[in-house]
Parts: sequence; C-alpha cells; structure tokens
Amino acid sequence: LDEVRRPFVAGNWKMYKTVGEAVELAQNLVTETNGTVNEVVIFPPFTALESVAEAIDGKSVGYGAQDLCWEDEGAFTGAVSGAQIADIGCEYVLVGHSERREIFKEDNEIIAKKMKAAYRNQLKPVLCVGETEAERKQGATNAKIEGQLKSALAGISAEQAKLLTVAYEPIWAIGTGNTATAQDAQEVCLFIRKQLNEIVGEDVARHIRILYGGSVKDTNAAQFCINGIDGVLVGGASLKVESFAKIVRSF
Ligand code: PGA
Repeated sequence: LDEVRRPFVAGNWKMYKTVGEAVELAQNLVTETNGTVNEVVIFPPFTALESVAEAIDGKSVGYGAQDLCWEDEGAFTGAVSGAQIADIGCEYVLVGHSERREIFKEDNEIIAKKMKAAYRNQLKPVLCVGETEAERKQGATNAKIEGQLKSALAGISAEQAKLLTVAYEPIWAIGTGNTATAQDAQEVCLFIRKQLNEIVGEDVARHIRILYGGSVKDTNAAQFCINGIDGVLVGGASLKVESFAKIVRSF
C-alpha cells in the first residue's frame, strides 16, 4: 500500500437513484466494502446527498457532490454552492466532469473558478480531464490534457494542490463500454504525473492521486491497478452494490 497515495475507488452515480434507492445502496456499500484498505467515496445526486450523508456519516465510505457553483451564494437559479455542499459534510466534489464540459458547455475558465470555490469551502476536488475520440485520433490528447490541468491549477497553492485528485477520463470511453487499454490509460496517467510535477513541483505532486475512469467494470477493474494509476472513477458499474464492491476489492 502506497503510504502517500492511498488507492481511491470513486462511484459517480450521475442522475440516477431516488432518495430511498440511494440510501439503500449507500448502506449496502458500507457493509459490502467493509475492511478494504482503499478509500471508497460515492457521489450521489444532490437530492439524495443529505440523506446519504446521514445514513453513512462517520462510516468507512465517504461522500461528495457531483458538481458545484463557482459562487458561494447569490441569484444562481438551479445551482448548488460549495458552501452548501460543505454544510452537509461533503469531503469531495467532482469538478469538470466531461458531461459538465460537453452537455452543459463548461469551459476551462468556469472549471478554474469551480476549483477555487471548492478549495475556498474546504472541499477536495476530483478534477476530471480527458480527450475526445477525434482529439485522440489527431494525436492531440496530451495537449488537451495539459491545457485542462494548467488552467484548473492556476492560482492554486501548494497546500491546496496536495488535496487534489485528478481523474483521467477519455470521453470516448465514458458510458460506451469501450475502456482505454490499461497501457493507454497508464501512458496518459504518467503524462499527467509529469505535468503535475512541472506545475506544482514533485514534493506536492506526489500527494496527488491520479484515477482512470471510463467503462470500468468488475470484469476489467483489476487491469488498471498498475504503476501510475492510483484508483478508478466508476459511473454505471457503481450503481449496483455487487459490481461496485467487486471493483473496490479488485483494485
Ligand atoms: P462510466 O462513467 O463508468 O459509466 O463509463 C464514468 C464517469 O463518467 O465518471
């Protein structure tokens, strides 16, 4: 077990689960993942977050929010702030998920503001980065990711950067059943580590975990448990207790 970077298995529930379903799944997860050395964190939808928090607070599974607004309060109809998320005990928040970037048109500038909002509210960001299929085909993967990392980390202090997790999620692999090969994922994750070393310095970067995400299932999770990858961010397969618990055990 890496003493600096504890393996991290995260479940992004996206826009699934009623409150009742979410609480049941969260409670079952606590039972089924009991005893793991890995850090396990779930990201339920906002509507279920407080009930899940009440059900599992202080237990072995952590929780966070899937998104946050860049302001802490104000006239932002429909948005939820970092202050509100922190208020219900969230430790983590996803920032810059590709579905936010693509569907909700969030650009690097907005993501950078959300990173600051997360830190301002003592939330640990899980920053998602990744390329489209076209960008990969053009050989533009590294350039895209370098740009995403540099803009998100501008103005972030060393102490703050230590609390960061980066999730490499190739957009063509999310929800498609097409995972990156372990080798491709490893290559990009090692590139991310090199970038982090340059941006925040090696002493700080060694604290930052780098996850792979994109069609991780109980049948393929173990292959990502390789040098350079510190954990996985799981979408679809985190919605069933059996498959997610199996992923937690296999990583
Ligand atoms: P997936 O989603 O596991 O369903 O591909 C991953 C994610 O979007 O975080």
